[in-house]
Amino acid sequence: MTTAAEHIRITLDGAWRQARERARTDLDRPEFAPHYTPDLDEARAITLKQMRMLAESGYARAGFAKAVGGGGDAGGAVASIEMLAMSDLSLMVKAGVQWGLFGGAIENLGTARHHDRYIGPLIDLDLLGCFAMTETGHGSDVQSLETTASYDPGTEEFVIHSPTPSSRKDYIGGAAQHATVAAVFAQLITGGKSQGVHCFVVPIRDENGDDLPGVTTSDCGHKGGLPGVDNGRIMFDHVRIPRENLLNRYADVEPDGTYVSAIENPNRRFFTMVGTLVRGRVTVGGSAGAAARVALSVATRYALQRRQFSAPGDEKEVLLMDYLVHQRRLLPLIARSYALTFAQNELISTMDR
Ligand SMILES: Cc1cc2nc3c(=O)[nH]c(=O)nc-3n(C[C@H](O)[C@H](O)[C@H](O)COP(=O)(O)OP(=O)(O)OC[C@H]3O[C@@H](n4cnc5c(N)ncnc54)[C@H](O)[C@@H]3O)c2cc1C
Repeated sequence: MTTAAEHIRITLDGAWRQARERARTDLDRPEFAPHYTPDLDEARAITLKQMRMLAESGYARAGFAKAVGGGGDAGGAVASIEMLAMSDLSLMVKAGVQWGLFGGAIENLGTARHHDRYIGPLIDLDLLGCFAMTETGHGSDVQSLETTASYDPGTEEFVIHSPTPSSRKDYIGGAAQHATVAAVFAQLITGGKSQGVHCFVVPIRDENGDDLPGVTTSDCGHKGGLPGVDNGRIMFDHVRIPRENLLNRYADVEPDGTYVSAIENPNRRFFTMVGTLVRGRVTVGGSAGAAARVALSVATRYALQRRQFSAPGDEKEVLLMDYLVHQRRLLPLIARSYALTFAQNELISTMDR
């Protein structure tokens, strides 16, 4: 017989119940048990190992479009990553950066030449990447990023450069240690004219983990959480990349330096490009909700076990949950968490369409 709790879980799981159930089974393995080490190297190694286990079980493939070799289940991918947040936020962020942000940039902003070369390896973690958008000077205001990508028609290369201290890429997940390639957001300049922010594939480390010439990475170190994510900074000193490394789904630069785009208005072009990356935002909101639900579950279960003070005429002490003031603290939060879960499921459905 289905219990009331099971009914509630099925209802809250919504349309992506299967993906959520699969994540529950995967994450039930001892290798995914919470670890509280303050040692950054150890925490990062554990998180990467967990990601490799997920990759081996085909965890990430479903989220990519069928046209690029995936399973075409974008909604399932968001629900799965959200489930990781119930287990370990480091794992959720690291997986979200690799498959959602880095992979999402290659898939949504790139074309066949990028898909053929990068999607398979990044799904299997043969290629570890990072998503280098934020700079020290600009986070929310992506249009004002300062990193430049100047086209040189003589060599048919872009020159990636950090012209000011505030143009340093900052807080980039994977940049401190593991990523060998970055999806770098920079102002595209050709023929002396800036065409706005575009995304470029830029190799940053060699196979030994050392910075490539012209690239300087550094480590953001300890954070107030997420010890398993190697957030770092990147500076570029006139780093040359082939013209083909521009992710050119919405705009391209021809060999002679001519800029071409089907979207004439620069604002519309920019928002079309960043709009394709909305999945990351949906995932972050959902994951925050999932992590908060874990804390609420712990508090609720505790209140159903812990007894404090004797009740007159009763041998047993009183359960915390039987105190009205305690109920008033927890029950509205439980109600709100249900509402937010339904809202998140709606959002995923809208995104999936
Ligand atoms: C753990 C972690 C991991 C990260 N990983 C990555 C990564 O992998 N790649 C990457 O590119 N970036 C990454 N970031 C950076 C993240 O994307 C930025 O922190 C975020 O975009 C916000 O930018 P900011 O910190 O510069 O905040 P700001 O842009 O300075 O904004 C700060 C606050 O100011 C207010 N504000 C700003 N603008 C407005 C406005 N227009 N209207 C109203 N209020 C406003 C808001 O309250 C906002 O929260 C990471 C950050 C963290 C903390």
